[in-house]
Amino acid sequence: MNCLICVGEAKRVLCDGPWEERDCPDCGQYRISDDLILALMDQGQIFDVARTREWIASRRIEGMMPCIRDYEALLVTACDLRDVPGELK
Ligand SMILES: [Zn+2]
Repeated sequence: MNCLICVGEAKRVLCDGPWEERDCPDCGQYRISDDLILALMDQGQIFDVARTREWIASRRIEGMMPCIRDYEALLVTACDLRDVPGELK
């Protein structure tokens, strides 16, 4: 089973409800809603790995299971691509 964030090797954890749970050695343990996975596949979108890991880590510090549902802020957006400095083009 692959990690849904970094696509590395991850353990699938069985859980109740409309969630997929993964335990990734790099990203940590988190849940993603089934709806979100479908939406991501539909739109061909991917997570911003660094930002998502940061978010997961911050949730864990608060003692909560990171459940990714409000995901817009964690995706690689077209906006990020435009932020590449002009000299690099
Ligand atoms: Zn991962």
